[in-house]
Amino acid sequence: MSGALIPSGVVTVAYIGAIVLFILALGGLSNPETARRGNVYGMTGMGLALLVTVFGVVTDNYMLLIVALVIGAIIGLTLAKRVQMTQMPELVAILHSLVGMAAVFVGFASFSDTSVHFTGVEKTIHDIEIYIGILIGAVTFSGSVIAFGKLSGKISGNAMLLPARHWLNLGLLLITIWIGSSFVEQSAAGGGTLSLLSMTAIALAFGVHMVMAIGGADMPVVVSMLNSYSGWAASATGFMLSNDLLIVTGALVGSSGAILSFIMCRAMNRKFLAVIAGGFGTTSGSASSGGGEDQGEAVQIDAVATAELMKNAKEVMIIPGYGMAVAQAQHIVHEITRKLRDRGVNVRFGIHPVAGRMPGHMNVLLAEARVPYDIVFEMDEINDDFPDVDVSVIIGANDIVNPSALTDPDSPIAGMPVLECWKGGTTIVLKRSMATGYAGVQNPLFFLDNTQMLFGDARESLDKVLGDL
Ligand code: NDP
Repeated sequence: MSGALIPSGVVTVAYIGAIVLFILALGGLSNPETARRGNVYGMTGMGLALLVTVFGVVTDNYMLLIVALVIGAIIGLTLAKRVQMTQMPELVAILHSLVGMAAVFVGFASFSDTSVHFTGVEKTIHDIEIYIGILIGAVTFSGSVIAFGKLSGKISGNAMLLPARHWLNLGLLLITIWIGSSFVEQSAAGGGTLSLLSMTAIALAFGVHMVMAIGGADMPVVVSMLNSYSGWAASATGFMLSNDLLIVTGALVGSSGAILSFIMCRAMNRKFLAVIAGGFGTTSGSASSGGGEDQGEAVQIDAVATAELMKNAKEVMIIPGYGMAVAQAQHIVHEITRKLRDRGVNVRFGIHPVAGRMPGHMNVLLAEARVPYDIVFEMDEINDDFPDVDVSVIIGANDIVNPSALTDPDSPIAGMPVLECWKGGTTIVLKRSMATGYAGVQNPLFFLDNTQMLFGDARESLDKVLGDL
């Protein structure tokens, strides 16, 4: 079978329609209340884009393409069905790696395609597109694989810092530019494969080095940064394939990911360039916060006393963290919230921007449990209110309520704004043990006079609290 089945005019109109749907999707995803609608726009846009590309742009090899589509769809569906909510961040990371890998493969295929003949400036531009596409793709691929390893715990979350790493990065950048200029010359003379392969190896190494150098607490920035890179990789692929939709869609993902990275950096009080250059979030200078020293004894509380405290409070602040996702406690949290609100207790939620393991993780869980949006507040909105809070209930959170971020300049999380729950009446921390959080830092909050620990799986503990309410 050969020749496109849909006329090119229809393809252009459908592409514009898909772009509009993607923009509406991004708009929808900026707010939990409209996120579901945003997802529907995104899925419709992608469905439309796939359909018109397969039947309007492709002119040959339909069987091969459809078989690949079916295999891809089966893998995607199986992954989506099997993945636990706590594994979402690593799934996202590994999916980013696929975008990078695709850019690398498309780049090499485009370079070896003998049916396309560019000459003069056009050839130079095409070669530069291929070079940059493979470069971004390879960095995205290897960086995302390492991020996957770190997020899934397969690789240590600690920063791996090579000596003179900034010089190393600068050296790699200069070498890459030099290889690039010789690649363009060699390609004009019919060669260039070796240069392209060398650059790919360097880019892969750079991706590994960049993400390995990032410490646990700064991973949120890396996750959103790789999201951005995957967009630029897709955009570069669009240039290589002369596909406008891919260029625009990639640019949308790339720029929204960059904006998200900037927001995450601001939330964590980090400089973007400093994070990507690595070195933050190391545990090397953290002796004073590493839990090795005696911080006193943590006081325990049981579920009955917890329920009693919450019942008698006027203001309750619930602070969810990664442990709530692990325990899948969000539904019980909502039940408890309803019971307390029925008794006239003002219950609010305080959400730290990097709580959990992906941007918006807690908002997604609370929305899933149908917690009303108007009692869910961002950290900046409620951090000043803690002196008026009677009881703060920390559900499986740790780093995001660690006062040492503000008091210990040597802490790996130093400078990161945290939810200042200790300024309120009583803080109850639900977790299973005294173990540290993602950044590997001991938390002095647990040893404060007004803090009490409710040990156990968060869902089981809250089940008992609910029973007592
Ligand atoms: P943390 O990882 O700091 O702490 C989670 C706590 O939950 C642990 O101390 C653990 O203690 C407890 N926990 C785990 N399972 C359960 C359970 N079943 N029941 C009760 N408690 C449980 O999470 P935070 O949300 O406080 O902070 C997020 C951290 O992750 C930050 O360092 C952030 O930088 C990082 N990060 C965030 C990303 C994002 O985009 N949001 C991405 C990557 C990293 P115990 O084992 O004792 O139960």
